[in-house]
Amino acid sequence: MAQVETVRGPVDTGRLGTTLMHEHVFVLNEEIRLNYPADWDEEARVADAAAKLNTLRQRGCDTIVDPTVIGLGRDIRRIRRVADRSDINIIVAAGLYTYDEVPFYFRYRGQQSRSPASDPMTAMFVADLTHGIAGTGVKAAFLKCAIEEKGLTPGVERVLRAVASAHAATGAPITVHTHPGSGSGLEAMRVLAAEGADLSRVVMGHSGDSADLGYLTSLADAGCLLGMDRFGLDLLQPFEQRVDTVAELARRGYADRMVLSHDAACYIDWFRPDAIGAFAPAWHYGHLFDDVLPALLERGVSQAQVEAMLVANPRRYFSGPAGA
Ligand SMILES: [Zn+2]
Repeated sequence: MAQVETVRGPVDTGRLGTTLMHEHVFVLNEEIRLNYPADWDEEARVADAAAKLNTLRQRGCDTIVDPTVIGLGRDIRRIRRVADRSDINIIVAAGLYTYDEVPFYFRYRGQQSRSPASDPMTAMFVADLTHGIAGTGVKAAFLKCAIEEKGLTPGVERVLRAVASAHAATGAPITVHTHPGSGSGLEAMRVLAAEGADLSRVVMGHSGDSADLGYLTSLADAGCLLGMDRFGLDLLQPFEQRVDTVAELARRGYADRMVLSHDAACYIDWFRPDAIGAFAPAWHYGHLFDDVLPALLERGVSQAQVEAMLVANPRRYFSGPAGA
């Protein structure tokens, strides 16, 4: 049985159970938080996150996959404190989140790198996956990168190639933040494929923001998993279109190519806390169980297809070719 690293240690992939493939615990601008700490109460935030995850566990979710990497405020010690207080599996990531340039830390390092394998960024990702993060022993189990509306900028391309290189070195799967409106998933696929990535181990995140079946099936036909992973962000794509698209793709035989999630967070500092309830009232961990799954079943999606999207596809993604 293949195993996958979680914050509390390795778990058999067969025991991951119902898995939400893209949920954050915290999304923070750490430098802002450190310098302007008025809004932050560490103990209260950790307790709140643990409570929210325990509620999610009671709803039937066994595992969340948290793609919070450098650029999104990753702090594994804080995540471990949450994991110690909750009974859900949390899988964490290595990688870098940028829509454009790399952080200055990397700008003058690795300029001379002749290949992604010798980029210092790659070595950092590989160390997170193989030795653990920041001396905690907690290992990342997947890689995360992003390509947004700006497309394949030099910085974005560098990160994509470094992620593909770390994937080749370790076998860890990949999640890409994409912007389907500009077709950026296709661009990511081209770069990752050119670097030799196994596309069946790649989630094209935020694909559910699109209802363009031609775009979505071209990613899925190449082997990628479609992240139908922003349920609740209805201002980017209305609820009806999100569920209709998943139902239609399932009807066409793509249930084994989709995963479901919210891209929600226990706490995200990008918005005033009171703002989220106004602009995205359904954007919370309960939405999938309360609203999305009943709507999918109503539209003819079978229980077996739901099971594929929530259990079997995540298991296969983390098991790898040998453990599938
Ligand atoms: Zn996200």
